[in-house]
Amino acid sequence: MGLSDSIAGAILTIDLAALVANYRRLQRAAAPAELAAVVKADAYGLGAAVVVPALLAAGCRHYFVAHLSEALAIRPLLPAGCPLYVLNGLAPGAAALCADSGIIPVLNSTSQIAGWRQLARARGAPLAAVLQVDSGMSRLGLSVSETELLAADDSFRQEVPLRAIMSHLACADDRKDPASEQQRQCFRQLAALFPGTPRSLANSAGCLLDAGFHFELARPGIALYGGDPQHPLDQPFQPVVRLDARIVQLRTVADGAGAGYGFSWRASGTRRLATLSVGYADGWLRSLSNRGAAYVHDIRAPIAGRVSMDSIIIDVTAVPEGQIAEGDLVELIGPNQRLDDVARDAGTISYEILTSLGRRYERRVLAFQEPANPETPGTIVETRT
Ligand SMILES: *Cc1c(COP(=O)(O)O)cnc(C)c1O
Repeated sequence: MGLSDSIAGAILTIDLAALVANYRRLQRAAAPAELAAVVKADAYGLGAAVVVPALLAAGCRHYFVAHLSEALAIRPLLPAGCPLYVLNGLAPGAAALCADSGIIPVLNSTSQIAGWRQLARARGAPLAAVLQVDSGMSRLGLSVSETELLAADDSFRQEVPLRAIMSHLACADDRKDPASEQQRQCFRQLAALFPGTPRSLANSAGCLLDAGFHFELARPGIALYGGDPQHPLDQPFQPVVRLDARIVQLRTVADGAGAGYGFSWRASGTRRLATLSVGYADGWLRSLSNRGAAYVHDIRAPIAGRVSMDSIIIDVTAVPEGQIAEGDLVELIGPNQRLDDVARDAGTISYEILTSLGRRYERRVLAFQEPANPETPGTIVETRT
């Protein structure tokens, strides 16, 4: 079925081959570190149910989410041998559910550690976890002194075998920011207190920094999904998301006519306008009012007036009259206008555009073709349970 056969107001297309190509590029960049995938917020809005199986087929063995509820939804998609970690760690009272579900918490604070140890003691069995230390971002993780105290506690090591020790970079989107090197030094020193424990520091942007940032496990998110992790970026990652919206109505307006709520746009001369079936309820942010654009046959058609809940108006005067009709689909994210272009126009970042993508879109998934040669990395190495 072609795009034009759909009755949907807008169509979101997710290209799993591009996702896998981005995974491989990050894998090469971070090698010999192992490459995990961050699939929090429903795989940055793309849908974990389609993203996770594609990454599994690409050979990804480690997965991170932010909340336990996300982990519970994703756990059934993963084979037993693939660890799933919860970045925000344990909410009070969540330890038993987490342990029983085969989910590994990232322990960020002394109270999270206490809750996990208490369960390990109550069950008389060690419980694995990841430890997060704060190397400077002041968001999650133990302070330097808390980490030193914990490292001196022998019973902690027995109760909680560490699968990894991690920290998070605050400024890696700017290659030249000296804060990354300071964080790296701090992290190295803290990790050395737990010898032999795999270390994880790099997000997507960190994968593009020097090898000294990669350690044993890297954890990219945004670059997998086609967002630029650094600005400027010589070679962009492959676009994974495409968005096309349908023209609901076409009209010609006279000089001085207002468009949209508040008449924040007025026609200068006779203009032709098209109303599209996408609005802020679909994640087409209101900050794109009078700023963003759509593309009609590769011709830029600026947004005229405010973004409404269910629609936007675009100025299609530049499009020859015979080349546009009600019912046509026009490009909102695609070859003419990348995800990061939309984010810039909206005054935000690609992460927010993706995680705002609405639930009303018809979603189409372009499948990831497995390589014909079974020896090629990228085939399914373990059947799903
Ligand atoms: C979200 C997140 C990541 C992934 O970051 P990207 O910039 O999307 O690559 C990695 N680590 C932690 C702790 C995160 O919160």
